[in-house]
Amino acid sequence: MAAAPPQGTPQPLYTGKAKSLFPHDDRHFRMVFRDDLTAFDAVKKATMKGKGYYNCQIAATLLPMVERAGVPTHFVRLLSDTEHLVKKVKIVKLEVLCRNLAAGSIVKNYGFVEGTEFKKPIVMFDLKEDKFHDPLLNEDIAEALGVATAAEFAKMREMTLKVNAVLRGYLEPRGLLLPDFKLEFGYDLEGGLILADEISADTCRFWDAKTRRSIDKDVFRFDKGDVLATYKEAYERITGKTAG
Ligand code: ADP
Ligand code: MG
Repeated sequence: MAAAPPQGTPQPLYTGKAKSLFPHDDRHFRMVFRDDLTAFDAVKKATMKGKGYYNCQIAATLLPMVERAGVPTHFVRLLSDTEHLVKKVKIVKLEVLCRNLAAGSIVKNYGFVEGTEFKKPIVMFDLKEDKFHDPLLNEDIAEALGVATAAEFAKMREMTLKVNAVLRGYLEPRGLLLPDFKLEFGYDLEGGLILADEISADTCRFWDAKTRRSIDKDVFRFDKGDVLATYKEAYERITGKTAG
């Protein structure tokens, strides 16, 4: 039999690649942003002290902004420098991608030239399943898998486009472009569809508007420079605060 954990050390309910979920109360989880970084389905891994803090603070800035604009989210408040209090949700097993400029897999898989600006944002849905490398979904496959219905697709698409507009409106005056980002949705205890997870330098591409330099996880993915300094810069430019 496995040894019982030491008293006072709550065990996470779920340990993902970059965050851990702990029980909090009947209606909430404690979401801890760890210092872990992964890329390419966790083939590439690293740990960097401070990364969790920067992402936690970026998400704590952007999620309430989205909420104020009318898209309900799971974010309640910060519990500490690296923890969010979030509403419990049943996660919809897909990732919604929104693209404004061509970067990443849309360049690799469809041949768009990197940096091409799309006339209107492209919304895509991937199955959230690392072992299948998050394959692209359409309404029929999602419905056959029992992941989401066409009506739910439409609702997530609408909410995602709203998030896109809010984020772009905030980032533009800060000299940042938003080539793309990934969202996760879930159903809260009342059965409402809300935005969950995070909006951070792990889940968004941020480019400096003038130089188009990456200020996000691509610096880790593609060894483009000092990773921690990049998360710090994203934090400072997005929150308007100076890191200590
Ligand atoms: P992953 O390796 O799956 O990306 P993360 O490291 O991002 O995991 O950890 C967060 C996990 O918690 C994700 O699987 C995400 O779907 C899930 N999650 C996010 N917000 C909530 C929530 N409010 N309630 C339940 N699960 C959540
Ligand atoms: Mg994740």
